[in-house]
Amino acid sequence: MKKFTKIFFEQEPYKTYKSKFNIYGIYKPSQENGTDNPNNGVYKNTVLSTTFNSLSSDRYLLTEDNKAVRDLAAHAPYDAIYIMVNTDKYGGGGIYNLYATFAADNVWNEYIFLHEFGHCFAGLADEYYTSDVSYNDFYSKGIEPTEPNITALLDKNSIKWKEYLTPGIELPTPWKKNEYEIIDNDWMKERAPLIKKISSLIATNAPKESVKAAENEYYVKEQKHVDILDNFFKKNPSWGKVGAYEGAGYSSQGLYRPMIDCIMFSKGKKPYCKVCEEAIIRMIKFYTE
Ligand SMILES: [Zn+2]
Repeated sequence: MKKFTKIFFEQEPYKTYKSKFNIYGIYKPSQENGTDNPNNGVYKNTVLSTTFNSLSSDRYLLTEDNKAVRDLAAHAPYDAIYIMVNTDKYGGGGIYNLYATFAADNVWNEYIFLHEFGHCFAGLADEYYTSDVSYNDFYSKGIEPTEPNITALLDKNSIKWKEYLTPGIELPTPWKKNEYEIIDNDWMKERAPLIKKISSLIATNAPKESVKAAENEYYVKEQKHVDILDNFFKKNPSWGKVGAYEGAGYSSQGLYRPMIDCIMFSKGKKPYCKVCEEAIIRMIKFYTE
């Protein structure tokens, strides 16, 4: 908890508003170590009954035991609940005004931690659109999403983040979307057999070292992919500009995000985009003023 408290306050806007937060940790030991991973037949008796494969998405980590969550949380005053899950498998979840979870030991733990808190605390939408999710057509066509960081509307004078638009920016904002999709698609193809390999090693009870080796191979390749994407974003002429970038909210077309990159869009160490940051600040002020 100390580690993630530090990470939290190193990130804007939490850094600036540090004095507005109190963080309490509540620890209750579980009967067993870990969490449920139904796709691999793993079931653990844990205090909050967290589980992967929530809503049939392997990396979606939630609990349906709301009573246990509230009973435990009731040991401290709180506005937001974060559940640290003792696992190194990639995953997490964040539901606005309910709670967030994250895999505390995964190599992407810092990113997941900040991403899911954005959902849970500020009601931010997922800005990504190329990953498989539990929801198809989550946002109805022709209806403006309620979340502050995605939009279906492109009118400069009424777009919900109009006060943050970079002066003179083109809407929709060109960002070499096709190039991004080729890079991302190549990685999706490359990673599929690696994921399959890890799953089958776990399913066949392979020695822990072989599972770890396969996982490491995966993470090294994934880190390389993240670096390539980071480079793509930073070299893009639209880097750092607030506009409306097509591709958001699990949809390749018709939904737009405010900046080319954001913690709500892609993995890695990076800031929230301007619009997400401002939405978080509004929520901090809502609770504290
Ligand atoms: Zn954002």
